[in-house]
Amino acid sequence: DTTPVTRALLSVSDKTGLVDFARSLSERGIALVSTGGTHKALAEAGLPVTEVSELTRFPEMMDGRVKTLHPAVHGGLLAIRDNPEHQAALAAHGLQAIDLLVVNLYPFEATLEAGRPFDECIENIDVGGPAMIRAAAKNHADVAVVVDVADYATVLAELQTHDGAIGSEMRRRLAQKAFSRTASYDAAIANWFAGEIGKEDAPAFRAFGGNLGQSLRYGENPHQSAAFYRSPGIARPGIATARQIRGKALSYNNLNDTDAAYECVAEFDPACSAAVAIIKHANPCGVAEASSLLEAYEQALACDPTSAFGGIVALNRTLDVEAAKKIVEIFTEVIIAPDASDEAMAIVGTKKNLRLLLAGALPDPRAAGEIVRTLAGGLLIQGRDSAVVDDMPLRVVTRREPSEAEFADMRFAYKVAKHVKSNAIVYARAGATVGIGAGQMSRVDSSRIAAWKAAEGAKRIGAAESLAKGSVVASDAFFPFADGLIAAAEAGATAVIQPGGSMRDDEVIRAADEAGLAMVFTGTRHFRH
Ligand code: 5GP
Repeated sequence: DTTPVTRALLSVSDKTGLVDFARSLSERGIALVSTGGTHKALAEAGLPVTEVSELTRFPEMMDGRVKTLHPAVHGGLLAIRDNPEHQAALAAHGLQAIDLLVVNLYPFEATLEAGRPFDECIENIDVGGPAMIRAAAKNHADVAVVVDVADYATVLAELQTHDGAIGSEMRRRLAQKAFSRTASYDAAIANWFAGEIGKEDAPAFRAFGGNLGQSLRYGENPHQSAAFYRSPGIARPGIATARQIRGKALSYNNLNDTDAAYECVAEFDPACSAAVAIIKHANPCGVAEASSLLEAYEQALACDPTSAFGGIVALNRTLDVEAAKKIVEIFTEVIIAPDASDEAMAIVGTKKNLRLLLAGALPDPRAAGEIVRTLAGGLLIQGRDSAVVDDMPLRVVTRREPSEAEFADMRFAYKVAKHVKSNAIVYARAGATVGIGAGQMSRVDSSRIAAWKAAEGAKRIGAAESLAKGSVVASDAFFPFADGLIAAAEAGATAVIQPGGSMRDDEVIRAADEAGLAMVFTGTRHFRH
């Protein structure tokens, strides 16, 4: 930490502040070494400086493509100071250690922004600069690396206060910044190159650094390009790890919807119940849990059979013959399950275009992870919603306590609501959804739609009363006014689960009490936009 800096290598494209910085270094007795243009600027300012070609005993060549790519430079940067063998190697080859590296890279990004032609962009890809930066950053235990003009002053101040040395704390910080610079530099090159190669390559996901899983024919619409990328690193079980057993290639919308379906059904522990989620346009149109997959499927389907047509079916247990037979009765795009029996696979095989995906395992709904979304010119990243209602302390806020059955249905409905686009309203009864209102801009509209669906369901089976009669209702966020709750009570719901936290909670609770509803607050919101 106390070894003073004796030799600095400076090689910068952006020469802002260079001369003043180098002069201060020089005044401290630090020997300066530089590449062509940088050397010229320093020599013209009257500073003592050695050309790097003197060190390498090689001329800079090929229009500067090869300047510093030489053991004299990289040996000087990478040698470990307290390693006798490294020191012996330096001595044997007449090399000298470099303690401070100052590099800023060829202006690739600026060239790109200026709209320059392909060849000029290529020529502005720095090779030796990033190599030196990485070498110095790797060897930060002995070397300080500066990649930003803005750090010149900080480094000078450090030399001043540390008797001509740069402390380990600062070397670590500079090294981290250096790697982040080479990473963003290469990302800029890679993104630009991908765009040059053509539309078949991935759009927004490039920046994520994932692995191309599949080029897609198109995106959400035929005029949009698309690709499926797998996250780098170990993936959670799910759509990205699933094996497609049969059927034609999945489309962008299929992948998106299948993911939503599998994530939704994974909320239900297969050790406790068989669960099925049917998804359209990334929203559940029916979810149910029962003692068998067949029963769960029938109940999920009954919620909204019209919408379920052409949907995605996700199951939380091994697909069996009974469920498979029932599922193939209507047109379904994709089935996803942890596994399938051979007989079930054979039944699915009778439908030419039906795809079967086997994921091996269910994703853990509580697992951490990231959700990435692009904005115009940027990315939004958030942790995934790993909150599960079973872990939430449910607070009864009404005079009436929910019954055990209501509690069970409330938990079920809340798990489903987590997977419904906001504003989400879910009616459920006996472990099955009976009405789902999704994606409306006002909560009361979602409530009305969900209630209307439950009433339609009753008509379909010739029942006298709406299927919402005796149901519970889940809301993904608080009711801002009593109206949504009153709509639910009028539809026949007897219990309500919602996060609470509205300014008008009192009003909403009063309305619930007046209607004889039981209501619990979870304290945790499940927005999904
Ligand atoms: P100068 O203006 O001093 O001649 O060149 C400085 C620039 O050259 C810096 O941006 C530095 O990153 C870059 N550079 C240093 N060594 C090499 C090399 O060996 N190859 C390439 N392509 N660029 C280098």
